[in-house]
Amino acid sequence: MIQQRNSDLDIEERLTRETNRLAEKDLDRIAKAYGDLLQSVGEDLDREGLRRTPDRAARALEFLTQGYRQDLDEIINDAIFESEASEIILVKDIELYSMCEHHLLPFIGRAHVAYIPNGKVIGLSKVARIVDVFARRLQIQENLTTQIAESLMRCLEPSGVAVVVEAKHLCMMMRGVEKQNSVMKTSCLLGTFKDDARTRSEFLSLLKD
Ligand code: ZN
Repeated sequence: MIQQRNSDLDIEERLTRETNRLAEKDLDRIAKAYGDLLQSVGEDLDREGLRRTPDRAARALEFLTQGYRQDLDEIINDAIFESEASEIILVKDIELYSMCEHHLLPFIGRAHVAYIPNGKVIGLSKVARIVDVFARRLQIQENLTTQIAESLMRCLEPSGVAVVVEAKHLCMMMRGVEKQNSVMKTSCLLGTFKDDARTRSEFLSLLKD
């Protein structure tokens, strides 16, 4: 009997990890907090449209923060291949949705990720997965950009990595009066992209195409 319960727990724990889910007790806490928050702004939790909102919002937050519960090595290990390639590989216009850690509002944009292989390449879809792992957390754009670049540097040991992120921040757009259309651009250049002006300008001209 005890044996059975232990193995059930193991399965549950494994499922939680594999699907990046939060524990039920944490989801309950989040839903409760959302309920408090809605009441604090004067809302009526019994109103029909809000009845399930704390639970739905908790699930949404779970999804938007799943990057905390993902293991990067697990995601990319089976997608690294040996290669003789030594030219710039650029993955452009990767859609990006993240949450600003200062206001808990979304920022939305694109990431452009380039690297110069040094014996190893990675499947293209995995580059987008790396972006998601770091975007699905509470972030500031500068750190997000650096984290994507440094993790590629660590996993692939390429000659260089360049990451550019351009995004619109709803905390500026919804609250501000002037900066409705401004796009924030951040970049992180490592290795050859940082040290060699020609490589850098080739990357910048590829971005413009
Ligand atoms: Zn903000």
